[in-house]
Amino acid sequence: MASGAYRNGVHKGASAASNFKSSSFKSKHPPVAAPGSGLRRSSSASLGAASGSLKDDRGVPGRVRVAVRLRPRNAEELVADADFADCVELQPELKRLKLRKNNWDSDTYEFDEVLTEFASQKRVYEVVAKPVVESVLDGYNGTVMAYGQTGTGKTFTLGRLGEEDTSARGIMVRSMEDILADLSPETDSVSVSYLQLYMETIQDLLDPANDNIPIVEDPRTGDVSLPGATVVEVRDQQSFVELLRLGETHRIAANTKLNTESSRSHALLMVNVKRSVMGREAALSSEDDNSSHLVKPFKPLVRKGKLVVVDLAGSERIQKSGSEGHTLEEAKSINLSLSALGKCINALAENSAHVPVRDSKLTRLLRDSFGGTARTSLIVTIGPSPRHRGETASTILFGQRAMKVENMLKIKEEFDYKSLSRKLDIQLDKLIAENERQQKAFEEEVERITLEAQKRVSEVERNYADALEKERLKCQMEYMESVKQLEEKLVTNKKKCCNGEGPGVSGAEELAEVKKLLQNEIHLRKAAEEEVDYLKNRLGQFTQPEAGGNSEILKLRKSLEDEAHKKKKLEEEITILQSQLLQLTFEADRMRRCLERGGSGNAFTGLDSLMSQVGHLHLKDAGNGQRASIATLSEQVGLQKVLSLLESEDANVRIHAVKVVANLAAEEANQEKIVEAGGLSSLLMLLRRFEDETVRRVAAGAIANLAMNEANQELIMVEGGIGLLSMTAAEAEDPQTLRMVAGAIANLCGNDKLQMKLRSEGGIKALLGTVRCGHPDVLSQVARGIANFAKCESRASSQGTKTGGSFLIEDGALQWIVQNANNEASPIRRHIELALCHLAQHEVNAKDMISGGALWELVRISRDCSREDIRNLAHRTLTSSPTFRSELRRLRIEC
Ligand code: ADP
Ligand code: MG
Repeated sequence: MASGAYRNGVHKGASAASNFKSSSFKSKHPPVAAPGSGLRRSSSASLGAASGSLKDDRGVPGRVRVAVRLRPRNAEELVADADFADCVELQPELKRLKLRKNNWDSDTYEFDEVLTEFASQKRVYEVVAKPVVESVLDGYNGTVMAYGQTGTGKTFTLGRLGEEDTSARGIMVRSMEDILADLSPETDSVSVSYLQLYMETIQDLLDPANDNIPIVEDPRTGDVSLPGATVVEVRDQQSFVELLRLGETHRIAANTKLNTESSRSHALLMVNVKRSVMGREAALSSEDDNSSHLVKPFKPLVRKGKLVVVDLAGSERIQKSGSEGHTLEEAKSINLSLSALGKCINALAENSAHVPVRDSKLTRLLRDSFGGTARTSLIVTIGPSPRHRGETASTILFGQRAMKVENMLKIKEEFDYKSLSRKLDIQLDKLIAENERQQKAFEEEVERITLEAQKRVSEVERNYADALEKERLKCQMEYMESVKQLEEKLVTNKKKCCNGEGPGVSGAEELAEVKKLLQNEIHLRKAAEEEVDYLKNRLGQFTQPEAGGNSEILKLRKSLEDEAHKKKKLEEEITILQSQLLQLTFEADRMRRCLERGGSGNAFTGLDSLMSQVGHLHLKDAGNGQRASIATLSEQVGLQKVLSLLESEDANVRIHAVKVVANLAAEEANQEKIVEAGGLSSLLMLLRRFEDETVRRVAAGAIANLAMNEANQELIMVEGGIGLLSMTAAEAEDPQTLRMVAGAIANLCGNDKLQMKLRSEGGIKALLGTVRCGHPDVLSQVARGIANFAKCESRASSQGTKTGGSFLIEDGALQWIVQNANNEASPIRRHIELALCHLAQHEVNAKDMISGGALWELVRISRDCSREDIRNLAHRTLTSSPTFRSELRRLRIEC
């Protein structure tokens, strides 16, 4: 092909070329240097460094961009692996993938892009293929390859036509759309060839007669061409889709003829783009007058780019070639191209001087379009099943090598719960010791202060008593002295009288004097009595120090209060640490049990397994020793304290505490204690007060567990729980939160007494609202709730406590029920089948069920349901209802 010369001419041998590693894969310069291309650029949504940024591209020139995509669990895995975790965990924000080694350990790998099972086809196209398509439009060669085990989504990613659902279109269809949109039909053209490579033979998928196409390499330019292959010029998208469909039909026919499986062959779509650049560049230069003299407007330039999209053969090893009807030679040849590709990738990754491109047809075909400076994207597809861990691991390693990282990036990241727990233990012990010390010092201080105060009080008391006694004695003495003097005077006066001295003037004077003395004495006595009273008063005041306002005692009292406050704080800190330790012990125990089980089986069912998947602990699985340690710890912390932490102002403490409560609530034995301690009200309060999704999710999970008990169900309703769960259901975005809420409502739905209230407070509508997220686990809870509700309703109708049609039908559940009656997930299907049978048992519902399409489902259940009891129930229901019978007669359906 002479196109290389043109392209080199256009890019004037861009100086960046010297930056790139030379290899036999080397072809053209990277698109970043393309001058005046005037083309769209994908923005952020492109593969890592390939995002069109000059700097990034220079950092890793020509590196293959590698994305990894996880396929969602398929129907079989949903059943067979229901009790096992996926073998990988994706961290798309960090562009990391964790491959579980066991339940405890995992290896972490980095990719240019990590696409979860929820990644849309559009996003996959934009990050994986769009940058390559853009560089092809700029005149470079590029390759998009999908590598992975059969059944992990290579063809899904590359080849889906998306005719029924446009959002399902794969990379081939979307690439052509972008190419056609960018070409001008008058000057540009695009043509395609579609080939299959099987056992080193190239077959033409557009013309099956053409089944041994040779590869021709231009020794001068290194360009690769397939002169024998059909080349079809594509004018519009529709004709391209037709070509792909035709190719696919031929591929199936060819493989049937050869008795092979398509998973053993590679499918290659080659798209050649030719565009005239002259017109474009002349137009550009006329816009920019300063540079117009640099352009040679009359030189006709054709820019050529080639895009190769490769749907590689399944990466799994053919272990038993004989069992698939192949000889060993055939088996080798089947894998030859794939292993040669692996070798080339390794050689490129190791920067080896020799890249063995000539070893296989695939690597020869890709020699001008892969590695080096051609833009190449590899999408590695993997499945979640732990049963294929080995194949998944080798697929991931292939992808890692393709990233050409010198030293394979392997981040060891393992959370060491044990040592953290040990550290916290030590910290806790230190704090306990410190607290004990302070407590002791505090008690001693209090004792000392009390003793001192008592001593001082008794001393003062004693002093006052002494003083009082002295005063009293003194007064008594004085009084007695006065009385004695008076008596003496009286005797003298009497004597005088007897001696005839009579009461003369002097006698009267004397009498007046004595009276005066007596008055005086009376005054003195009064004063003494007053003084005694006063002193008594003082003494009383002194024995009541509060009233006395002794400032020193007040000071002591203040420091006493301070100490008590400090002590309380310290105790709170200990409680938080203990609850953290408790949580860690839970997690460590869970890990340990997982390890012990070694993934060999798990007997959780229903809500239990639902809780276990979000990391809840099941104490019933814990050994005696572990249970005892957990019980001791929670006793130490105190349930009441943990519950009080739920209202903490600190969000971390709150989350921590609610996790502890949720873990405890997962164990039936603790549920009563939690509810008695007011835990249910606290959990409902969390839903009411906090918008944090984690808190709500964990709280809803705990409520769901508590709601398994009938008494608690009533309590939840009394405390307005259904309103709070409905509000959470309406606001939540995380499927896990919705799953917990739906699980809680589903439990409430099974209580006969709560039917009316549940319905009138919007419970059924809230439950139905959660299906919007589409997650199968949420749907399964909804189906369970509906089945529970229908069962209770049916019971109430039979007992005559309920008349009229079903509330489920009134609240619009029938449509969802009918749509999911044949859901591929068996737990959903089973619940719905039961719900339909319950609804159908009451004649009042029959008309609505017929108009809602439920009759068909009942007929199907009565014929196909794998469970005999349900099948019989459906049959009995159909034959006993006059309305159903007449409708079946009208439709001429035998039942
Ligand atoms: P491969 O080509 O790797 O053998 P397929 O593309 O044929 O695998 O995929 C196998 C099955 O898995 C198909 O039924 C496909 O629809 C389904 N599948 C693959 N990837 C996804 C995905 N990302 N989302 C949903 N279904 C997928
Ligand atoms: Mg396939």
